[in-house]
Amino acid sequence: MLTVRDLSVRYGAIQAVRGIDLDIANGEIVALIGANGAGKTTVARAIAGLLPYQGTIAFEKDTLRPNSAERNLRRGIALVPEGRGILGSMSVEENLLMGLYTRADKAQGLSDLAAMLERFPILGERRHVLANLLSGGEQQMLAIARALLSKPRLLLLDEPSLGLAPKMTAAVFQMIQELRREGLTVLLVEQKARQTLKIADRAYLMETGRVVTSGPAEALIGDPVVSETFLGGRVTNAG
Ligand code: ATP
Repeated sequence: MLTVRDLSVRYGAIQAVRGIDLDIANGEIVALIGANGAGKTTVARAIAGLLPYQGTIAFEKDTLRPNSAERNLRRGIALVPEGRGILGSMSVEENLLMGLYTRADKAQGLSDLAAMLERFPILGERRHVLANLLSGGEQQMLAIARALLSKPRLLLLDEPSLGLAPKMTAAVFQMIQELRREGLTVLLVEQKARQTLKIADRAYLMETGRVVTSGPAEALIGDPVVSETFLGGRVTNAG
């Protein structure tokens, strides 16, 4: 579904991503794991079309262009950014309405929005509440629900567990598995390596802008070198 080849991104003098390859097949949960500053967010933002980059990113045989976020969203790639990107001074419902802006089928969109409020009852109950009054976990659910309203086929989730209590993180991870069962393909960017590997099919482990290891998630959990570097506390203890 998605093919990334020799992707490099720089911010001025800083080379944030150095020639990485990554593939995502239809229906997979693929994890991108690494410590702070490894370059994970940069990869997700490049795929979403939010950055200039070098290399090739192809989505279902079409080569994507850098800096083409709206076009990528219309093609079916939605990003839930780190920090969620919801607008706190707008209501839950208004935030969800923003998820419809690329949709041509507005009437169907509104009925999808109503269905979303049923699917996430906490959002339904609080639809008129300002988004910044929601808890962190509720805000993450809102950000995911908003992204889903653009009807993506590939969902990019950038550190959805950031700042969440363990119980809420578990709920978000369970939601990700449910979405995959419904046919969605997911790129999950995370620092919580162990928990992420438990729900992912495959993973790419990043350090200082490069992919250092990749493979089936199950094999990576059992790999002693991976365990030492990514699961032993350097990335996180929370997984
Ligand atoms: P985090 O978990 O902190 O988001 P990350 O693995 O997602 O980390 P990136 O955010 O992609 O890492 O950052 C990769 C590198 O690029 C880091 O060295 C970071 O300081 C740098 N960087 C990121 N954004 C910018 C920017 N807008 N301008 C300059 N440098 C940046």
